[in-house]
Amino acid sequence: MKKLIVSTLGCIMVLVACSTATPNFDQDKAFAHITAQCAFGPRNPGSDGIELCRDYLISALKVLGATVTEQPFVASVQQDSVAGTNIIASFYPQMSRRILLGAHYDTRPWADKDPDASLHNTPIPGANDGASGVAVLLEIARVVSRTQPQQFGLDIVFFDLEDSGSYGDNISWCLGSQYFADNMPINEPEKAIIVDMIGDKNQNIHMDYFSYHNHPILVKELWETAHELGFNSFKSTIKQAIFDDHYPLIQKGINAAVIIDFDYPLWHTMADEPSACSPASLEAIGETLLHIIYATQ
Ligand SMILES: [Zn+2]
Repeated sequence: MKKLIVSTLGCIMVLVACSTATPNFDQDKAFAHITAQCAFGPRNPGSDGIELCRDYLISALKVLGATVTEQPFVASVQQDSVAGTNIIASFYPQMSRRILLGAHYDTRPWADKDPDASLHNTPIPGANDGASGVAVLLEIARVVSRTQPQQFGLDIVFFDLEDSGSYGDNISWCLGSQYFADNMPINEPEKAIIVDMIGDKNQNIHMDYFSYHNHPILVKELWETAHELGFNSFKSTIKQAIFDDHYPLIQKGINAAVIIDFDYPLWHTMADEPSACSPASLEAIGETLLHIIYATQ
């Protein structure tokens, strides 16, 4: 009888473990989204590539059953009025506790950090800077659409016009997320996590000063989760203060942080190609985020 009780308890424990397990992130499926985005060409404002990419994102999210809305806006880029569109995909809208994941899908119109000065006005391919964050979030969308998290509904936001800014002028960057934060089209999330430039083969992710100093609990949760999963590319040091799509959210009082690998020699160059990225780097971010989404408390 005692033995029977023990084995029954064992089964119950196995069942509990199964029901709370975090589903797997498929790094190859994620990587395919980098290749697909880059095949559209550069996705700078006004390009054919960004139109094709927008259609790709919207149809991929709708196929997964998300409620997809577009948030059009007009912003100023170097004194020109430029149209942009944020894309918002909501999963399990009935769940009141929400997590927001965001990434920018536009790419920089100018390769102005390229060693070849003749290329400084050429739009970048944006494999890491743009496509990698989107790729991870599209794979997370697929996973979440198949398995409902216990605690959280998910809002994925693809921001436009992040990368047409001027160096040294913070508010000229992140125009889509600034508009989003000023005109919140969704309920406030409990946690908002932005990912950007996370596909580099040689991944090194330091903490961002603004994220850590405003929301240390969220940053620690992310880094501790990554470390528990064995992803040592997350470094527990603050290297820079990064103005990215999380910053306008922080300014509105939202519990937001960015995961960015700013240690990327090919930043804003024509060599920011898929060959500079790796599926394993996407996996480190994707698995970490899924563990946050599938937390049981
Ligand atoms: Zn950029």
